[in-house]
Amino acid sequence: MENMENMEGSSSSSSSCASEEDLTVVVKWSGREYRVQVSRDESVSELKRRICELTTVLPKRQKLLSPHKFTDVTLLSSLPIKSSLKITMMGTVEDEIIVDPVDSPEIIDDFELGQDDAAEIKDKEVNKQKLRRRIEQYKIKLLNPCREGKKLLVLDIDYTLFDHRSTAENPMELMRPYLHEFLTTAYAEYDIIIWSATSMKWVEVKMEQLRVLNNPNYKITALLDHLAMITVQSDSHGVFDCKPLGLIWALFPKYYNHQNTIMFDDLKRNFVMNPQNGLAIRPFRKAHLNRSTDQELVKLTRYLLAIAELDDLNQLDHKKWESFIEQVKRPRHA
Ligand code: MG
Repeated sequence: MENMENMEGSSSSSSSCASEEDLTVVVKWSGREYRVQVSRDESVSELKRRICELTTVLPKRQKLLSPHKFTDVTLLSSLPIKSSLKITMMGTVEDEIIVDPVDSPEIIDDFELGQDDAAEIKDKEVNKQKLRRRIEQYKIKLLNPCREGKKLLVLDIDYTLFDHRSTAENPMELMRPYLHEFLTTAYAEYDIIIWSATSMKWVEVKMEQLRVLNNPNYKITALLDHLAMITVQSDSHGVFDCKPLGLIWALFPKYYNHQNTIMFDDLKRNFVMNPQNGLAIRPFRKAHLNRSTDQELVKLTRYLLAIAELDDLNQLDHKKWESFIEQVKRPRHA
């Protein structure tokens, strides 16, 4: 619908921001050539994301053979490359998800950017441009229709709903306690979108295994993956990926906006483009140890219900969510 066509096979993209994508990289992989268009103000990690869109080889599995030395955070503009660069890629498609904790995405310690730093990232023209490009490229497949009058809850998976680093015979053992109760209650007031920094395959498999998809008690509106993220740069913390809610707001403006959206993630940096909408959930780790005591989703259900009737969630400071529910609980006339 609002989304632009995929770039595969089109050397002259008809996308309205084609002029921004000023670098064409010809990627040779597995006996085929892929034309990948990317802007020079992006980093190598964005190039890898684009390659992943066309080849489905995950960025972490890609090895790019090039005479130039670079890492994922290298800006393409800093490389001495002309347009129509040819590079060879080595990498394997993951046909089956192997649950291998050692191999799953690296944990980078979370950090909170200073207010100035965060404001700068959000308002930087180059980041707004990255977001606009993402809005043009990324396709959100609706699993269920958006519902009029509902707020929007965006949820991370790893360490938020699921302990992806522990092992168990049954994935249900690694599910955060009260997940289904939480989603069932939230669904009355909120549409639910799941957004993980991993691949769509992993998101689908995981959500299916936990019986979140096709659950009789609630419906998931959509699933988003790492390709929907953008890479930003801060002076204090270098280059990192984040989840810009502006993507969802731009694609579904009739339903969702900065006033009716809340996002739960264990990594604060994921909401750097929209700090006012993010709530930093405590990570659910060491499931076998913490399964019997973790109450985070029970308490957050209370919060979601308490704020559901507010017209503008932007007025809230989600850092104070726990004291907010304490106030609501306290009897008015003691
Ligand atoms: Mg997480």
